[in-house]
Amino acid sequence: MSVNAIEERVARVLKSLPAHVQLVAAAKTRTPEEVQAAIRAGVKIIGYNYVQEAERMHEVVKETLQWHMIGHLQRNKAKKAVQLFDVIETIDSVRLAQAVDRHCAEAGKSMPVLVEINSGREANKTGVFPEAVFELVTQISGLANLKVQGLMTMGSFSMDPENSRPHFRATKKAFDELAAAAIPNVEMRYLSMGMSSSYQVAIEEGANIVRLGTHLFGERQY
Ligand SMILES: *Cc1c(COP(=O)(O)O)cnc(C)c1O
Repeated sequence: MSVNAIEERVARVLKSLPAHVQLVAAAKTRTPEEVQAAIRAGVKIIGYNYVQEAERMHEVVKETLQWHMIGHLQRNKAKKAVQLFDVIETIDSVRLAQAVDRHCAEAGKSMPVLVEINSGREANKTGVFPEAVFELVTQISGLANLKVQGLMTMGSFSMDPENSRPHFRATKKAFDELAAAAIPNVEMRYLSMGMSSSYQVAIEEGANIVRLGTHLFGERQY
């Protein structure tokens, strides 16, 4: 897509989102020109799946932005991730949380994190099952340099967004239960659900962060 078309799409999406919903531009595979067009049109948060790709883009995109890690984070990349990102949306194990916490301590940084739920219970997906999230959040709530601020989920990869609805609903349920549990040092503020095909359903089910790639930038060419 042309940069003009990207600007138009982003502006249209931003206008259509309810005021309480934040847009993360999922920028994997996009060029600096494409990303900058999205920023010109009002994108404030950029999401990356890979540490290396975010690092390359950091060198060319100098605008003030929030950077979210939205892909699976390997523990050996935790140090770089702590340097590059403002929020890590994909914490899914105690060991990963501990690694991020340790690197935050070294860097003198405090990291807002979301816990990723494998709401579709698909074996090839990352994230914890909804019934395990309470234990994981409790375990990582004591880490001094992490601030648990909510949950993230992918939903279903099916083309029909209605197939994601039960997964989004299960994630919202876990979110509400965690909020009600009032675990010290845990704040249930953000619920990141929904991609291009499913974000409207995700918002209906309570998302206040949506992560859009294709809808803003067009189809990805791999
Ligand atoms: C790529 C990606 C998205 C956006 O996907 P689209 O279908 O292109 O909108 C959202 N979340 C994650 C974790 C992604 O990797």
